[in-house]
Amino acid sequence: MLMTKDRRPAFRTIEGWARSVLLEAGTIRECEEHGWMKDRADPYARQRAVDIARGNPPFGVFPDEAAAAVEDVLGSIGDTCPECPPEE
Ligand SMILES: [Zn+2]
Repeated sequence: MLMTKDRRPAFRTIEGWARSVLLEAGTIRECEEHGWMKDRADPYARQRAVDIARGNPPFGVFPDEAAAAVEDVLGSIGDTCPECPPEE
C-alpha cells in the first residue's frame, strides 16, 4: 500500500471553511447570476474575517494557520465575476 504523507491533509477542508468565514464576514459575496465569489475589497470586512478565523479556528488548526488560510483564499478570489459583463 502506498503511504503518502501530506503536510496539509486538511487543506481542502480548510479552504472551504475559510470561504465560509469570508462569506460570513461579508468579505466576499457570491454573484447572484453565476455563483462566482467576488472580493468586495472592503478592508474592514477583510480584517473581520481574519479576526473570526483567529478566534475560531477549525479543530486541530492553529489560529495563525486559520488566519493565513483566510488570506490565501481571499487572495485567490477576484473582485469581479468572470462571467459578468464589466460594469462601465
Ligand atoms: Zn456574474
